[in-house]
Amino acid sequence: MGAKNGKQYIERLQTASNNIYLHGERVQDVTTHPSLKGVVKSMANLYDLQFEKPEKMLYTSPTTGEQVGMTWLQPKTIEDVIKRREAIQEWALTSGGMMGRSPDYLNAEVMAMGVANSLFAEADPMFAENARKYYEFARENDISLTHTLIHPQVNRAKAQHEQKDANVALHLVKKTDEGIYVDGIRLLATQGGITDEILVFPSTVKKAGELDDPYSLAFAIPNNTPGLKFISRESFDYGKNSFDHPLSSRFEEGDAIVSFENVFVPWERVFVCGNSSICNRTFRETNAVVHMSHQVVSKNIIKTEFILGVALSMMDAIGIDGFQHVKDKGTEIMLALETMKSHMYRAEHNAKLDKWGTMTPDYEALDAARNWYPRVYPRLIEILRVLGASGLMGIPTQADFQNEEIGDIIHRGLQGKNLEGYERVQLFRLAWDITMSAFGSRQMHYEYYFFGDPIRMGMTYFDNYQAKDELKVRVQEFLGKGSNSKFLNV
Ligand SMILES: Cc1cc2nc3c(=O)[nH]c(=O)nc-3n(C[C@H](O)[C@H](O)[C@H](O)COP(=O)(O)OP(=O)(O)OC[C@H]3O[C@@H](n4cnc5c(N)ncnc54)[C@H](O)[C@@H]3O)c2cc1C
Repeated sequence: MGAKNGKQYIERLQTASNNIYLHGERVQDVTTHPSLKGVVKSMANLYDLQFEKPEKMLYTSPTTGEQVGMTWLQPKTIEDVIKRREAIQEWALTSGGMMGRSPDYLNAEVMAMGVANSLFAEADPMFAENARKYYEFARENDISLTHTLIHPQVNRAKAQHEQKDANVALHLVKKTDEGIYVDGIRLLATQGGITDEILVFPSTVKKAGELDDPYSLAFAIPNNTPGLKFISRESFDYGKNSFDHPLSSRFEEGDAIVSFENVFVPWERVFVCGNSSICNRTFRETNAVVHMSHQVVSKNIIKTEFILGVALSMMDAIGIDGFQHVKDKGTEIMLALETMKSHMYRAEHNAKLDKWGTMTPDYEALDAARNWYPRVYPRLIEILRVLGASGLMGIPTQADFQNEEIGDIIHRGLQGKNLEGYERVQLFRLAWDITMSAFGSRQMHYEYYFFGDPIRMGMTYFDNYQAKDELKVRVQEFLGKGSNSKFLNV
């Protein structure tokens, strides 16, 4: 069928009737539920955009000749890598980068693992074939995906097999001729229940030992598979209009605990079965982490541009743009943006073909960017908060403006340098939704954690940093202790 549009995305969700629980009830129809319909519409808009800008968002499938989504493309040239980025950014522009799980994130993972499938063949050639076929299936049917990587937070000082109840975390129950049965809990599926399928993969960061083999699984199944339940956290979309909650009302993706109750997974959907060694190497050796990082940095460039746009508009609105420290704060956001763009330029222009023939961006540049952004994002948010001051609290609702008694009072009283009261409040409500609302707080938490624990990611970054020895030798030589010191002694 090729790429799908928004209507088809919605119809599939209605037909699937995924088992999602929200606020203590099973959701009958995610597409009309007051807390989910906003984000479902935003997702549908992304799929419609594929047909509104086909030259940017679609390409011809190598197997069927159908038009398929550009974010499924296996890049073979640097131009292809750039095309992927442009499609990712086109989608990110629709939300100011506030949708972390637009479909491109997991499309990158499926593409990379589907192409670099030989790793999975180490256990059985069938698993490699499964990964290859799954990529084709997902691409040709424009499958939307959620994923779950981590075990429940019971006791992080122990491995899974050592937990006081070793059956809490998702684990292998039995193998049959037809497939495997799995049971237990996994965290945390953003967009769980409003997508077609779930990918179960190991964590990118946490490594498992052999005794945790029963927990070392990778597979993909439809979200309406019997025994699968998505238990969503409280929604931050309170059913408000887009003036009052400009982001929460449209881009609240939800995060779900995933429960598997003796769930059957057919063999053709299994990629890794009880093999911690393969799981531990999956993301890095297939280069999935590289292509996913490319998506993340592309999206975060758009997000930083959006934040800069909001900061500059606030400065104009209340006439603070001439103050020295205000300019300096604008400069901080600009430097963050330009740094991210430079990482991207280096990543794309140093891209190399990997052994599977995929043009793979320079991971050093992307790894630096993905480790740095969680550290800088809180500062960007702090800057908006500091610039907004009382303006982030003096934000009446649309209903207040429509009230005959008080509407005119606030429209006049909250005017800005260049905006009427209504428009100024609209802008400041947006800043509030980025920084201080439940949605904004979750964005901060998301940017910090979604790729893994930044502390352990940072430790890995430090351990793998290539130039360490060379730099220490240079210092030794400077101190006159090296074998071929180039520095003059006086
Ligand atoms: C908003 C949001 C959305 C998310 N969406 C998804 C999703 O869609 N799919 C998905 O799979 N995951 C998702 N995640 C989960 C994310 O992958 C994890 O939060 C991340 O990997 C960290 O793992 P954890 O939450 O289990 O933290 P933990 O590992 O429990 O860590 C808790 C704290 O303990 C410390 N700690 C724990 N163990 C160690 C150790 N061995 N050494 C040093 N310090 C340690 C950590 O540094 C941290 O401070 C999401 C998370 C958030 C916040």
